[in-house]
Amino acid sequence: MGRKRGSAVIAPKPSIKQLNPYVPGRSIESVMKDTGISTLVKLSSNESLWGPSPRAIEAAQQAVASGLTFYPESDPASLYETLGRIHHFAPTQLIVGNGADELLELITVTYAGANDEVIYPVPSFSAYRHGTLMTGARGVTAQLTPEGAVDLEDVLNQVTDRTRIIFLCTPNNPTGGIIKHTAWESFLAALPDNILVVLDQAYVEFANHTEHLQAQESIAKGHPVIMVRTLSKIYALAGLRIGWAAAPDYIISPLKTARQPFSVNRVALSAAQAALEDQTYIQNVLSETITARQYMARQWQTRGYSFWPSYANFVTVDLKSDARVWAAKLEQAGFITRPASAWGLPHHLRVTVAPIPILEQFFAAFDAIGRG
Ligand SMILES: *Cc1c(COP(=O)(O)O)cnc(C)c1O
Repeated sequence: MGRKRGSAVIAPKPSIKQLNPYVPGRSIESVMKDTGISTLVKLSSNESLWGPSPRAIEAAQQAVASGLTFYPESDPASLYETLGRIHHFAPTQLIVGNGADELLELITVTYAGANDEVIYPVPSFSAYRHGTLMTGARGVTAQLTPEGAVDLEDVLNQVTDRTRIIFLCTPNNPTGGIIKHTAWESFLAALPDNILVVLDQAYVEFANHTEHLQAQESIAKGHPVIMVRTLSKIYALAGLRIGWAAAPDYIISPLKTARQPFSVNRVALSAAQAALEDQTYIQNVLSETITARQYMARQWQTRGYSFWPSYANFVTVDLKSDARVWAAKLEQAGFITRPASAWGLPHHLRVTVAPIPILEQFFAAFDAIGRG
């Protein structure tokens, strides 16, 4: 009797069949291949076109020069020391990961499983749903407010006895809205204390707003809150893949047991530390980014398009027609942008804030396309 082979016999578990492959911002390499344009500007994944601190590049080069023979530290003491000094955490409250992405998945597989429920906002970062389905837990969605922030009242309405994790994104990707301090405090007070709240703050440096919730404060009080951060956005080290998270010890400790010990490489550890140490550089990038964000908002406004007011380094605009058509034409003009169709927003385009001279060229190209 011949044995059957192939997908009839080897099939992934049912929850994996519900996954959608991640649709990243198109890479410079692939658009270059399609268009033949060699001077592409990538405004599709919210990397910082200001680039990283020169000290981070130097530290990365030094790390390579001093050798790649040995495994990296899995509990990087000096990076924890730097993070602790800047953000006021103890090493036992900190963990690093291969990008915030790895940490988001690690948190989900550590704290949720089959028969559990995980709540996440929609539209928001796709990794929450992805990680939830990977573990076999059930995903439950919550909506946004008209300002494009996570609607915490709606999140509370979705809580059941089975809820294990709640993901919140502030500023939210792709809308840019923030959760304010007052809403956050009443949310925490109303929430059962057996639910872990994950605060994805990939863009928090850009929020620069006194009303934004203060994660450090909630963590210091021992609330079941974990803040996830990245070096990919304002620190401009997306290519190296490093992120970190902070939470009370009792939340971090199981994550350190569950994690892959060497997922963050030596070069990333060194560069991240140098980048964090150079806060003067980051403050400068921040102020230029905010000025450029205001410029971008004014440009969309002048042209009569509406958008969510953004506290991040992107603006998502309603172009009133198929945004994929605009994106394709913008690519031909050398600009890679992100149509929001994967988020169920077919008319919206997300554009990363870049230095003003680049944005001037972008809007000139946009207007030329508009004139047909
Ligand atoms: C970019 C982004 C991340 C991913 O960060 P990495 O550290 O590059 O993995 C996480 N969350 C949100 C909301 C993001 O936009």
